[in-house]
Amino acid sequence: MIKEKYLGVEVCCVNQKSVLCEVENIVEKRKPSFIVAINPEKIMKAQKDTDLLNLLNSADIQIPDGIGVVIASRLKGGNIRNRVTGIDLMQNICKKSSEKGYSIFLLGAKIGVAEKASKILMEKYNGIKIVGVRDGYFKNEDEVVEEIKRVKPDILFVAMGSPKQEYWIKKNIDNLSVPLCMGIGGSLDVICG
Ligand code: UDP
Repeated sequence: MIKEKYLGVEVCCVNQKSVLCEVENIVEKRKPSFIVAINPEKIMKAQKDTDLLNLLNSADIQIPDGIGVVIASRLKGGNIRNRVTGIDLMQNICKKSSEKGYSIFLLGAKIGVAEKASKILMEKYNGIKIVGVRDGYFKNEDEVVEEIKRVKPDILFVAMGSPKQEYWIKKNIDNLSVPLCMGIGGSLDVICG
């Protein structure tokens, strides 16, 4: 995957279609991978925070979530032409999952939100397999990891805000045995309206 760098932060030259292709690859190969959404706010934060910079660059796919990244690429003569927003990608992954039979776990947001979002997604994407939901205000991390391992999702969406969700994914990805993890910020709240 071709990547460009903005103030040290890597961003992939992708569009919705090419990321979805890569998602399919990741799930089929079952090699734990994670997707992070990049916007100018995260790039600026990473200037003063080396741990965050390394974390963002350690993701397998950095999607150009913010318009600022697209503008920067155009100015620099790069190849990022369009935004790939996290919320759109998440919903497209849900659609693909309903077609391919991939199973999904929704982790994050306040109590009841992930459950409500799962009902909305099940109505929208016929046959989608949502195998677990859990709010993002848990005390016992091990218990959450065990719950996810027990239901073995193909895809884990983590909605705990950035960069908390990315640190959480990084810390747990090797233990989870989930092919694809993606931080989705406030997307579950958006889906619930
Ligand atoms: N959240 C959570 N656990 C936390 C902190 C936040 O589950 O410890 C949830 C919060 O309820 C909200 C989401 O994370 O649903 C953060 O949304 P926000 O729009 O602030 O995230 P961003 O997209 O800006 O990263």
